[in-house]
Amino acid sequence: MIGYREARELVIARVAGLGGVVETESVPLPEALGRVLAHDIVSDRDYPPFDRSIRDGYAVRAADTHPGAQLRFTGELKAGDTPSISVSADSCIQIMTGAPLPADADAVVMIEHTSREGDLITLDRGVKNGQHVVRRGSEQAAGGIVLAAGARIGFAEIAAAAQVGAAHPVVTRKPRVAVLSTGDEVVDFASVPGPFQIRNSNSVSLAAQISLLGAEAVILGNAKDSLDELRTKISAGLEADALILSGGVSMGKYDLVEPVLREFGAEIIFDAVAIRPGKPVVFAICKGKAVFGLPGNPVSTMVTFDLFVHPAIDILAGAEPRPLPFVQARLTAPLTERPGLTHFLPAQISWRGETAHVSPIAWQGSGDVVAMAHANCLMVVPPERERIDAGEAVHVLTRGIC
Ligand code: AMP
Ligand code: MG
Repeated sequence: MIGYREARELVIARVAGLGGVVETESVPLPEALGRVLAHDIVSDRDYPPFDRSIRDGYAVRAADTHPGAQLRFTGELKAGDTPSISVSADSCIQIMTGAPLPADADAVVMIEHTSREGDLITLDRGVKNGQHVVRRGSEQAAGGIVLAAGARIGFAEIAAAAQVGAAHPVVTRKPRVAVLSTGDEVVDFASVPGPFQIRNSNSVSLAAQISLLGAEAVILGNAKDSLDELRTKISAGLEADALILSGGVSMGKYDLVEPVLREFGAEIIFDAVAIRPGKPVVFAICKGKAVFGLPGNPVSTMVTFDLFVHPAIDILAGAEPRPLPFVQARLTAPLTERPGLTHFLPAQISWRGETAHVSPIAWQGSGDVVAMAHANCLMVVPPERERIDAGEAVHVLTRGIC
């Protein structure tokens, strides 16, 4: 059985070969958060657009400065002013942060390092050429690429786009990801279940995970464990950019997802990964679409989404897959697990100063949605470890349920 890293690599390699979403749209910049750029954003001019002072002080010629030097004050420049006078060997101009350097000046002496009597400024120290100045074009040259196609837009990317006037960036259409739950026992979460029925939590948790990634969920409802119903609903799901099923992928008599996918000509890339929760997880390519058959137990569904579906959605959106965000933390209490599988245990991570500590949450296994809701991370137990002592460093997956 393959491990989770190998399974992830297979997903990444195969989904990259599918092409992804090609349609693009232009959106107002404030609405571009979380979207993926389809076209490069280029700089409309040099940044900074002029030699900019980054301190409040006096604009000077560096060569004329030394401790005790005295310069005549000849004027003032604040941010937004057009410089009209120049400095000379024995003069200086008071300058504010963000103002353009006047002609012939090449440095700024901080106001804190000067004293003033009338129009005479005395320097405590000299400055070097370029000190406290950011040169025109040194951050970004006109015409250069500020953000490349494929970049995911976060708040800093919004600032960079705003700076160069990219008010309506062109982004890829959000991937549409169909969600189909399966199971005779599964009923709508807003209904009152019969004594042996289960409310459908997977469709809504998957939709939430999908939208947190910047994609669009298309909820197809629930399919009974019947070949005919699965055929019809899987066929509808294949209209989307990707299809996620939950349930029906174990070894039971009524686990019919894989047989129906095979009927549709699917290439099954894997149907088991050495993890717990989530071992019976299916990844297939069917009619040119990525299809995931996730186990129906809700914690398995969430964990396998994060491990395997997440990179696929990133790629479909035109971006690089985001790496799994592992951090190291100290285990607070000893722990034993059955070796052979990589375990992803619902856990609580907390920080004392800069040191992370992690405590697994008591749980009843992969159906225990309440334990998962009380967790804020997944703690990793590698397959070769049977016991981990308190105080040992372990890996924690911080995304997911945080
Ligand atoms: P399965 O993978 O179909 O064998 O289902 C495993 C377990 O997950 C069973 O106990 C199901 O009742 C439960 N389950 C399956 N689908 C859902 C769902 N959509 N929401 C909540 N629980 C589910
Ligand atoms: Mg089932």
